[in-house]
Amino acid sequence: MNLPEKVTICEVGLRDGLQNEKKILNTEEKLELANKLIDAGFKVIELGSFMNPKAVPQMADTDELFKKLGEVSGVEMRALIANIKGVERAAICGCRKVKINVSASRLHNLSNLNKTPEESVAGFEEIVTLANKHGISVSGSISMPFGSPWEGEISIESIKSIIKAYLDVGITEISLSDASGMAVPNQVYSICSNMQENYPQVKWWLHFHNTRGMGIANILATMLTGITNFDSSFCGLGGCPFVPGAAGNVCSEDVVHMMDEMGIKTDINIFKLLELAKKVQQLVEHEADSYLLRAGRSKDLLKE
Ligand code: ZN
Repeated sequence: MNLPEKVTICEVGLRDGLQNEKKILNTEEKLELANKLIDAGFKVIELGSFMNPKAVPQMADTDELFKKLGEVSGVEMRALIANIKGVERAAICGCRKVKINVSASRLHNLSNLNKTPEESVAGFEEIVTLANKHGISVSGSISMPFGSPWEGEISIESIKSIIKAYLDVGITEISLSDASGMAVPNQVYSICSNMQENYPQVKWWLHFHNTRGMGIANILATMLTGITNFDSSFCGLGGCPFVPGAAGNVCSEDVVHMMDEMGIKTDINIFKLLELAKKVQQLVEHEADSYLLRAGRSKDLLKE
C-alpha cells in the first residue's frame, strides 16, 4: 500500500461540531478546548465562523475567541466566512486565515448561503482583495462534490468550474467537503486522483462526514492518491442543518488512532486528545460518536 509518512489533521470541532449542538458553550469553555487542542499537537484548527449571530448563535463569540487566544506560533487558526463582512470581522479580531465555501450542488448552495453557486463565485474576488489588504489568507471549500441529496451525482465539470473560479482569484488551497456523507472510497479515489493530476499547484483538504460510516474508509482512499490534509472533529460532532439525516464529521480520536496504528505521523498526542474528547462529551451533555471513547486504543488491550 502506498501510504504517506505523515498527514495533517485540522480539528473542526469548535466550528463544524459546536455549531450543530443544542447547548451553546461559553467563550471560556471554548478557549479551554482550543488550548487543549494546541497542547495535544494540532497545528491547524478551525476555531469558529463569522456568520450572522442570529442565524448561528453557537458561533456568535468567534471574534472574542480569536482575541483572547491571540496568535499562537506554529498553529494556524482559521474561521469560516460567508461574505465580505467575515473578512472585516477577521481583520478586527486578529484572525489570519479565512475559508469560503460554495456548494457544487445548486440547491444546497441556495439553502445554505442563499445564493446560486455563480453568485457565490462572483463574490470571491472582492473577498480576496480585502483579505489581501489585511494580510489574511483565504482558502476555499467545495461542498457536495461527491453527491448531493437533491441532485444526486455531481459532474466533474461542475466541480472543475468552481476550482477554476478559485484559481482565477488566486486561491490555491481547496477543500472538498462531503457534507452529505454520500462519498464512497472508489469514487473518492477517482476524483482525488483526477484533482491531483490536473491541479498539482493546489493544496487539497478533504472533509468527510460519517453519515453512512464511510468517513475513515474515504480518508484511506484519499491517502492513496497522495493527498495528506484532512478535517476531523472531536467526538465526531458536526452536521449540516440542510442535509437530511446529517451526521457528524469523521471523529478525530478515531482518525488519529488509525494513523498511529498504521505508523503514519500526525504529531497529535492521542492520550491528550482522548482526555479532551471526554471533556467535550461532558460539555455538550450527550454521548459522543467516537469508537475510541467507547473501546479505547487497541494497544491498551494487551497491557493486562
Ligand atoms: Zn462539515
